[in-house]
Amino acid sequence: METGWLLPDVDDPETAEFWAGAGRGELLVQTCGACDTWRMPPRPMCSVCRSTEVRWEPTSGRGTIWSYVVPHPPLLPAFAELAPYNAIIVALEEQPTIRFVGNLVTSADGPINEIDPSTIVIGEPVTVVFHTVEDVTLPRWVRV
Ligand SMILES: [Zn+2]
Repeated sequence: METGWLLPDVDDPETAEFWAGAGRGELLVQTCGACDTWRMPPRPMCSVCRSTEVRWEPTSGRGTIWSYVVPHPPLLPAFAELAPYNAIIVALEEQPTIRFVGNLVTSADGPINEIDPSTIVIGEPVTVVFHTVEDVTLPRWVRV
């Protein structure tokens, strides 16, 4: 079903494993196969040792809100109906330089506008939940 959501290409070889992990309920991070450096977003080469060896490691799925925005019109039609909503950046607990973008919600399948953006606090703890839209499972975030 086409809903008009802006969704990632889950078959992109650079990110396919991340989306497959999300589909299993795992928040994965790309890891250098040579020096173990974590990186996000996924890239073909390690910025530390220049290796192209890659593996994926599960994370705790816990973090803190590093920043957020409230997108304003003009928005794509599917998103305009839900404005105002939030988009947050989460710093991962294990390594805060690893950051994920998503929405703060109250439950995995709740709408992205169910949190009043004025209540969002930088630094508040969150944990990942997963929500499936069409053929994509998206990481989202709930307050701890
Ligand atoms: Zn490396």
